[in-house]
Amino acid sequence: MGLKIWFNDKLVDESEAKVSIFDHGLLYGDGIFEGIRIYNGKVFKLKEHLERLFISAQAIRLEIKYDLPAITDFVLQTVAANNLTDGYIRLVVTRGIGTLGLNPLVCNDSQLIIVATTIQLYPPEMYEKGLKIISANTIRMHPQSVSPQIKSLNYMNNVLAKLEALESGVVEAVMYNHLGYVAEATADNIFIVTKNRIITPPHAAGALLGITRNTVMDLAVECDYQMIEKDLTRFDLHTAEEIFLTGTAAEIIGAIEIDGRKIGNGKPGPITKKLRQKYLELVNN
Ligand code: PMP
Repeated sequence: MGLKIWFNDKLVDESEAKVSIFDHGLLYGDGIFEGIRIYNGKVFKLKEHLERLFISAQAIRLEIKYDLPAITDFVLQTVAANNLTDGYIRLVVTRGIGTLGLNPLVCNDSQLIIVATTIQLYPPEMYEKGLKIISANTIRMHPQSVSPQIKSLNYMNNVLAKLEALESGVVEAVMYNHLGYVAEATADNIFIVTKNRIITPPHAAGALLGITRNTVMDLAVECDYQMIEKDLTRFDLHTAEEIFLTGTAAEIIGAIEIDGRKIGNGKPGPITKKLRQKYLELVNN
């Protein structure tokens, strides 16, 4: 039996959850989404994710047919219907059916889809050993094009950077912005550790204000680490003692090589490990 999918105002079988080929989410990537984790039967940071969803909607002038409390209830019903205690939710809102032209104003019935299932982004040994990453040539979307703060269905620049990584034989890539500063990884935020300081790029550099990023920044402060937001260059990555990535699906994962250069001693560093342990403690409580 397939999954139970939330489709607009009700649960349907996976085989019945279908959007139109005229949906502008499909035709133009015109829509928004969130990825959310379920730990121990609880949806982690649901309010924060839904608030970000509504901000993304506002930024692209997409009207979501339901309010935040209603969507909260839909998410919980979807999790329950699929009997999940640990898993991952993909919540998508598309612009809905329109014509073959671009005009979003003729789409007046946005579509809400909630999928709740399990996820394993990277195999467990990658968390132990760490990831190899590269600097992508594809830059992050210019902020005056589509702001990286909008979690839109338009991930083509991330997809191209991910392809660069895979074609180089690694799994993840760092994306820089139009000024040459580090923005983020293809679907994760990035942090470095140098001289006992933890540094992550500011949102103005093109970093999504990741929910995991915020959580990790709070944990870093709790652990009395010095936590700084500032622009980073390729030089900073190449000379970092530690690099780690954060994201809802990836959680916290160390990077041990960038552009063929070893980071630190080639193993996930002590601060990465400590923050990962703290994060797992937090989500499991
Ligand atoms: N950056 C991008 C481009 C993302 O798509 C994501 C989410 N996968 C993140 C960062 C991490 O955000 P969060 O911690 O909220 O999942």
